[in-house]
Order: sequence, then structure tokens, then C-alpha cells
Amino acid sequence: MLAGMRVALQTFGCRLNQAESDRMAADFVAAGCEIVPTSAVAEAVVIHGCAVTQVAAQESRQAARRVKRAAQAAGLPPPLVVLVGCVVEADGRVPVVPDVDLLVAREDKERLAALVLARLGVVAGDNPPAARPRQARRTRALLKVQDGCDFFCAYCIVPHTRGAPVSRPWQQVLDEARSLAQAGFAELVVTGCNIACYRDGGRGLVELLAAVAALPEVTRIRLGSIEPATVEREIVDLMAGCDKLCRFLHLPLQSGDAATLQRMGRRYTPAAYLEVVQTALRRLPGVGLGTDLLVGFPGETEAAFAATRQVVASLPFSKLHVFPYSERPGTPAAALTEVVPSAVRKARARELTRLGEVQRQAFARQWVGRPVTVLLEGVDAAGVGQGWSGEYLACRVAGVAAAARGQLVPFTPVGVATGGVLV
Ligand code: SF4
Repeated sequence: MLAGMRVALQTFGCRLNQAESDRMAADFVAAGCEIVPTSAVAEAVVIHGCAVTQVAAQESRQAARRVKRAAQAAGLPPPLVVLVGCVVEADGRVPVVPDVDLLVAREDKERLAALVLARLGVVAGDNPPAARPRQARRTRALLKVQDGCDFFCAYCIVPHTRGAPVSRPWQQVLDEARSLAQAGFAELVVTGCNIACYRDGGRGLVELLAAVAALPEVTRIRLGSIEPATVEREIVDLMAGCDKLCRFLHLPLQSGDAATLQRMGRRYTPAAYLEVVQTALRRLPGVGLGTDLLVGFPGETEAAFAATRQVVASLPFSKLHVFPYSERPGTPAAALTEVVPSAVRKARARELTRLGEVQRQAFARQWVGRPVTVLLEGVDAAGVGQGWSGEYLACRVAGVAAAARGQLVPFTPVGVATGGVLV
């Protein structure tokens, strides 16, 4: 009876949402369902929404709203429409989207497949599988280690939508890491809301990473973002002594101005940030360095923005994520006055984005003539492979076999193309 039940999932937002969607898909597959694209006929469509910005929340709601209309336009029976994710929490768990049949709250996410199947009149198995077949389309697997955050940065809705930090049990993470590596994933991407909050008994993220790296099956581990003023120093130490950990550190700076950081509710000063990055650069020569920047936060003066630009320019960043601030209702920052005009926010974002492009190119040039290890994510008909180095540089590798997709290959670049791509 279950065979032939078709489920489509559409995911918005962060890597954590993607990791959770992979898990949901695996649960559906284990229950005998087929995962189909959102454009295909399905008995259920799951919209895994995001609420990090108002625009993201609106897009998630619109996607849910479109499902039944699209089925009707195609003359098909309407599927069960399911909405889950931060947008449900941000909307107060109230059905604000017409045509949504099932809202799934955050505490029910883990059993979403069972809830959906129950609504469809079937009973899911009690034991969701550890294997995650949907990830077979990728060469990297997401390894979720925790959820939630209680840092309450003034602009961020996440602690309000995802709640306090909850860590997955130590052994469960290790078992999943092993099974993903055995399934052939050459890289595990450690994912969570605020992974520095990982705890199981007296053990934290650093111990967990060391244990994952000690698994003989695991070949490469990439870390998601690490909040400054948490365990970044210990991570640097671990990276310095562990070849399996990609040498890429993503430390969100947000602002280079002390007063702005304070208003944002961040837990470090620019001086502390600079100090820790300088230590990382000394201990990990050639490390890829990423950051997030939030510009145009209320009260950010020209001088405060100049301070951010100065900090960014003083460090060899390889990857900048620059966001113009947007008010998020429900956060303390939304009530702040001294609003920076939207045009100024955008202009500041453009300026830093341009700086980031120059920095990325400069960082990539350092690697010309030096060997890197590339995880090949695709190989085209001409035998050119595309993938990522451990330092998180895009690479184009000529003369590889199609079968090399998903493998780690040595590569010595001879040049840098547009966008900092090693060739
Ligand atoms: S650390 Fe701050 S920005 Fe990051 S999820 Fe937590 S509250 Fe949001």
C-alpha cells in the first residue's frame, strides 16, 4: 500500500534545514515512499520553510500557497500540503497560509514522516533509519550535531524559532558519521544552529570532532560557522594537528565596530576577534577564512562602518557573506531607532562585497603551484571536474574520469580564473 506514495520536499534557508530535510526524506523512503521533485505529482508536499528574514519567510509561505493551485491548474488531485520549519514558529504556529493542511512544530520535526503518513491514512515504521538515501545525489553529507541557540543576538530570530540548544547524543553522531562515510561520502559537513554549543555530558564540540576524525572510515570533515568567543581557539589547535579537518574557519564577525557589536548583543570585541584570527593564521598557514558581515545595523555610523571595512581589509579573508540589515519583527533590534536608510545599507553591502571579491582572488592566487586536495562534485563531458579544496576554494581540474566524482583527488593549480576558481 505504501509503495508508490510520492512525497516532494522543498527546503528554504540554511544548511541545518537541508540536513533536517535529508533526514525527513530518509524516513519517508524507509517507510516505502518515493521522493519526487516538487514539479512532479505527489500525495504530499513538505515545505521546509525559513524565517531568518522577512523575505525568506514570505517566500516559504508563497511556496506553500502555490502547491494546491499548481495541482488544480494541472487538473490533478490536491496533495497534502505540510509546512514545517522556523516560519511556523515565527507565525506563532497559527495557520496563516491558506491551503496548508498540516503545520509541524519544531518538537515534532523528528517524526514528521510518521505524522504525514498518518494524515494520509498509513502508519510509518517505528524506527527511522540511520542511512540517508536522499543524500546520494551529493558528494558531501551534512552531519547535524545540534539544534537551537540561546545567544540571543539582537537581530536574530533563530533563538525564538528554534529554541534553546539541544545536542544529539554523542554515540548517535558517531554512528551516523561512520555510516555516512561507509556509504561513500568523502566529506562530512558538521552542521547545527550554533555548533559551539554542542554538549554531551562533559564533552563538547572539540572532543566530538576529534572522535569523528578518529573513525578510520572518515576521510574529510568540514566545519560550519563557529561563533567567536566560544571554542574557536581549541578548534584551531585541533585543526593544526588533524589532517582530516578542512583548513577552513568561518568566524562570523558581523561588525568591526565595538559599539555596534555591543548593540548587536555579540560576545566579543573587534580586538579579541583580530587576536584570535591572527593566532589561527600563525598556526594554520594558508587557512581559508570566512566571515559574515551585517551592515547598516541601527546606529551604524559612517565611522562604525569604516571600522568594519578596516578590520576586513586587514585580514586575508577568502569568503565574505555580506548582508544588509533587515528588520526582523520579534527581535529586539526591530525596536531600535537610529535606523540606517535602506539605500545606505545596500551601498555598504556592495562596497564590502567588492572588497571580498578582491580578497578571494588574492587568497586563491596564493595557491597557484601548491598542491591541494579537491573533492570532485561533478565531471563534465570534457573530463573537467569541479569541486572544492579543503580551504574552500572552487577548483576546475582537467583530465579526470567521470568515475572520479565524489572522490578526493590531488591537484596543483596553475592559475586562478574569475571568482577565485583554481584551474
Ligand atoms: S549566535 Fe546569534 S546569530 Fe547565531 S544563531 Fe545564535 S542568536 Fe542567531
